[in-house]
Amino acid sequence: MERLIDSLRLRHHLAPEDYATLLEGAAEGPLLAYAMQAAREVAVGRLGTGVFIRGLIEITNYCRNDCYYCGIRRSNRRVERYRLSKEEILACCRLGNTIGFRTFVLQGGEDAALSDDWIEEVVNAIRREFPDNAITLSLGERSREAYERFFRAGADRYLLRHETATREHYAQLHPAAMSFDHRMQNLRELKEIGYQTGTGVMVGSPGQTTEHLVRDILFIEEFRPQMIGLGPYIPQNDTPFAGSPAGSIRTTLMLLAIFRLMFPDALIPSTTALATLAPDGREQGILAGANVVMPNLSPPANRAKYALYNDKKATGLESAEGLRGLERQLNAIGYRISWERGDYRGPADGREATLRHEHTKE
Ligand code: SAH
Repeated sequence: MERLIDSLRLRHHLAPEDYATLLEGAAEGPLLAYAMQAAREVAVGRLGTGVFIRGLIEITNYCRNDCYYCGIRRSNRRVERYRLSKEEILACCRLGNTIGFRTFVLQGGEDAALSDDWIEEVVNAIRREFPDNAITLSLGERSREAYERFFRAGADRYLLRHETATREHYAQLHPAAMSFDHRMQNLRELKEIGYQTGTGVMVGSPGQTTEHLVRDILFIEEFRPQMIGLGPYIPQNDTPFAGSPAGSIRTTLMLLAIFRLMFPDALIPSTTALATLAPDGREQGILAGANVVMPNLSPPANRAKYALYNDKKATGLESAEGLRGLERQLNAIGYRISWERGDYRGPADGREATLRHEHTKE
């Protein structure tokens, strides 16, 4: 089966049944080790041993959606809700910039109280104060017009995981009011507008089969996102899926390796979910070819409230305060923090971007 890894490394593509073979083979130590080694050779060969850092600011935990897996779903009465003000967000950015972050990621639930005007204003304010930093948004589904306004105001990147590329599985994870087609449509719009676009899935989400994951791989292969976010599903006590087991770390690592071999230059984070589920999850993710980590830069008092899943890490090496510790941890496995902005504009075919940032001088 090692030859499948060699072939993926060479051609960046496999037949669907071969992806299935690799995913199912993730339980075998030697095969997973071989895949991870190939993936990190590719990553280090293309990108070196630097790992990009992104400051994650969780701006609101209000959400109008009711995703069955997510701890900040609308029906969860047990979360204390919060919403940061523009000034609080800017204060996080200032602190983050001083520490050395050159990318800010604004993530949140789909908070109906956050108007397009307000988000545009926040993006504008960050852009004015930090002209050289990247701004990433992860605020769920909005109108194309809204995405365009945020882009013009200076947002560079957008993260919107597709969660599953299988319509029936999407309906198992989300209430009927949420639309698979709408999410996919949004992803295409983001890319057309010119965002560096990120998508991805939870590994081992309830009802997920190998066949579903193969479809996710084929979707991502065709969509060619600049960023690919993968973490294990982790149950959250106050959701309908509280009793579903967490996803497999090994399958997550195999999937990371597959995507690194498929897209040698893509931005692939070693996610907080992976670091939460396994004590050495972050390092393992990097050793499987990931090249980004996203420490938490939210105000410490709010972090516990952004409880997507049980025991979510937001302190120590998962936090902005822990960068020295993170650097030591990376050094121990032969890597280091990269203080660069770390854009990835490809895989470019010149057809996608339709808008320009207003602040770029051309
Ligand atoms: N509202 C935004 C941001 C969602 S939170 C959006 O819809 O894009 C970011 C990601 O966390 C989600 O895309 C989902 O894949 C992941 N997530 C949510 N609940 C989770 C859980 N229980 N376990 C693991 N990951 C989870």
